[in-house]
Amino acid sequence: MSAETPSDRYGFDTLAIHAGAAPDPTTGARSTPIYQTTSYVFENVDQAASLFNLQSFGNIYTRLTNPTTAVLEERVAALEGGTAALATASGHAAQLIAFHLLLSPGDEFIASNKLYGGSMTQFAHSFSKFGWIVRFVDPDDPENFRRALSPKTKAIFIESLANPGGVVSDIAAIAAIAHAADVPLIVDNTLASPYLCRPFDHGADLIVHSMTKFLGGHGNSVGGILVEGGRFDWAKVAGKYPTICEPTASYHGLRFYETFGTMAFAVAARAISLRDLGPALSPMNAFLILTGIETLSLRMDRHCANALTVARHLLSHDKVAWVNYAGLPDDRYHQLAARYLPRGAGAVFTFGVKGGFDAGVKLVEGVELFSHLANIGDTRSLIIHPASTTHRQLPPERREAAGAGPDVVRLSVGLESAPDLIADLDQALAGT
Ligand SMILES: *Cc1c(COP(=O)(O)O)cnc(C)c1O
Repeated sequence: MSAETPSDRYGFDTLAIHAGAAPDPTTGARSTPIYQTTSYVFENVDQAASLFNLQSFGNIYTRLTNPTTAVLEERVAALEGGTAALATASGHAAQLIAFHLLLSPGDEFIASNKLYGGSMTQFAHSFSKFGWIVRFVDPDDPENFRRALSPKTKAIFIESLANPGGVVSDIAAIAAIAHAADVPLIVDNTLASPYLCRPFDHGADLIVHSMTKFLGGHGNSVGGILVEGGRFDWAKVAGKYPTICEPTASYHGLRFYETFGTMAFAVAARAISLRDLGPALSPMNAFLILTGIETLSLRMDRHCANALTVARHLLSHDKVAWVNYAGLPDDRYHQLAARYLPRGAGAVFTFGVKGGFDAGVKLVEGVELFSHLANIGDTRSLIIHPASTTHRQLPPERREAAGAGPDVVRLSVGLESAPDLIADLDQALAGT
């Protein structure tokens, strides 16, 4: 890495459009081409050998690298202020790869208990099959992370802005606890996007995204990414992170940290975890997500403005019991949001409909402009009633604990004209 990175030289909006990209050297194409190919011709046997040995960087096979995906990786790394990134087939795949490098069977990590439901299931149920043990704690008191530390703890995982309850974590306080224990802090920055929150500026070591949501932004592609901050000392405690620091048998004894320094995590994530687990992003999805990122700041500004307008309207609505949106001045997370999300509190929030479960069902069935579905971060406005859908399987007390009580409705406010969104909610609420 040169001392000056693109993030130092250019503003956010310039990076969102240009970072990682250049006119195609062969055709002059200005938009990044979709390199829809599985494999790449070697120049000769020596060049092939040097690629396979990681002595030079180049393309071998699209499970490992692809030129379209490489532009996306460089762009998201620049937007987050990281050293390198690795794109994956989904957000869940990025999480799997991060933990695959960090944990051995029997190791532990501590995670917020207010995470995207799919992450909680992945950590508690599927990761346990690898012998990786998660300890969930309430993130509202950062000291809970310190209390859950053990000699086997290898990482702490939080969301900057948590889905669905609008929970904002005190990233700097939790990072300080992680670093005192010599473990990295991983932040899922999906709901905020790098435009609203920059976790590396507050001490995070690794960032993961579901690019399916705001980075892609148009509800058309599933994808994920892992970004390295470049400041964590993987070798500080000898033997703690063997995959990153110890000789790697499948690369003739190469030591990733010694060889690749501040990019060691991203290189090892690709050369070991992506190579062996296999969840590569398709070039087509990389192209669609890249195109989405070019308008990230414009979209996020409108998402936040529309969400605030809709949240204020619902707060004064006589069929609404409560609204949880960190953008509202009386919200319990408003102070943290002012610190970590100064440009806006995002597009996703929950509210309580008077009349409980039945009213929630009538509301989601009564909307016309909002789409009733299980996603967030689309140009379109989305609505879901978790108790009757995503959290239906859970017994009532577990639903309540997960923030999916009978009256809870979640919105992902899109980019439409705000008065139309309000009118749609009003007509649907009138029928509850
Ligand atoms: C959607 C989501 C994920 C999982 O991402 P996929 O792309 O669906 O695999 C992880 N974290 C958060 C916060 C999400 O919203």
